[in-house]
Amino acid sequence: MNSRRDFIKKASLLAGVAVVPGSAKNITNFAINSMKNDKLKLSFKPYTLELKHVFTLATSSRTTTPVMLTEIRYGDLIGYGEASMPPYLGESHETVAAFLSKVNLEQFSDPFKMEEILDYVDGVMPGNPAAKASVDIALHDLVGKIIGQPWYKIWGYDATKTPYTSFTIGIDTPEVVRQKVKEAEEYKILKVKLGRDTDKEMIETIRSVTDKPLCVDVNQGWKDKQFALDMAHWLHERGVEFLEQPMSKTDYDSHAWLTERSPIPIIGDEAVQGPKDVAKAKGAYSGINIKLMKCGGMRNANKMIALAQAFDMKLMIGCMTETSCAISAAAHLSPMMNWADLDGALLISNDVFRGTTVEDGKVTIAQLPGIGVEKL
Ligand code: MG
Repeated sequence: MNSRRDFIKKASLLAGVAVVPGSAKNITNFAINSMKNDKLKLSFKPYTLELKHVFTLATSSRTTTPVMLTEIRYGDLIGYGEASMPPYLGESHETVAAFLSKVNLEQFSDPFKMEEILDYVDGVMPGNPAAKASVDIALHDLVGKIIGQPWYKIWGYDATKTPYTSFTIGIDTPEVVRQKVKEAEEYKILKVKLGRDTDKEMIETIRSVTDKPLCVDVNQGWKDKQFALDMAHWLHERGVEFLEQPMSKTDYDSHAWLTERSPIPIIGDEAVQGPKDVAKAKGAYSGINIKLMKCGGMRNANKMIALAQAFDMKLMIGCMTETSCAISAAAHLSPMMNWADLDGALLISNDVFRGTTVEDGKVTIAQLPGIGVEKL
């Protein structure tokens, strides 16, 4: 008995964690794996998500989204990851495959050296944030599984504090919009995509069928700051809680002018990709929208949370259309958020993971180790 306790204590020291009741088996597995001196093995597979509805933004429409499903194997454990590549962001099956082909994780035999491993991945090529996120997520999943705990717990976040997720209503005809609002009955807050010449009609159509709180994403669709301010007042009077990226991502001055005067928070999305953009966004925006596919994964997302908190900015977590893999990874960060927009897996008809769900409109993290997903 004593020698077993010593062994678990040693293994936990090796793993850098306290011994948690119920997790001894996993830590033991880890120690055995370490002794075998396993290498990390990365593999990846392209997949195409089918969207339930045609998805229309201010500048594009589509019915599918390419994703890359990644795995990191270590002994008998597998960490799952994902890159999602909506075409307007510039990554594709080809670019992500080219990037991941250059990543050699077999040089690493200790998955707990996450900083070293992810610094190496970041340095393989500049850019490629979704490809990098797919490795980051898989590594987090793997390490969480070794420790035997979900990431929200490892970080010390409170899973009961997850926000409601908004459900996105794309730009469409009034009949389809009314139908979509009815289908979204479960959700407590709706996200409306604006940025065309039918903006007021969209809001009035939605208000004809529901009085739920709304948030609005313009995806840089408005050109003029005075028009944006007039719209902010008009939207505020109609129960809109915040306004996301109303104007060009490069126009910090107009956003700063608007943020100072707007009755509702102005959130930066396209303007804020990774940690380095948070300082630039201070003053120009009231808050930031963090997405794993923009910032390169869970490690950078946590850095952005810390920075935004230091600057007293509001926090939102968003997503692309993704399987429940990347959505679940993002969900572990959601207890720290003012708002969540994690409906990506709900918009597709061919998910390949089960993980975070939405229960009565609220982001609900699965009580499983790592990012908390099971492959279907
Ligand atoms: Mg947005």
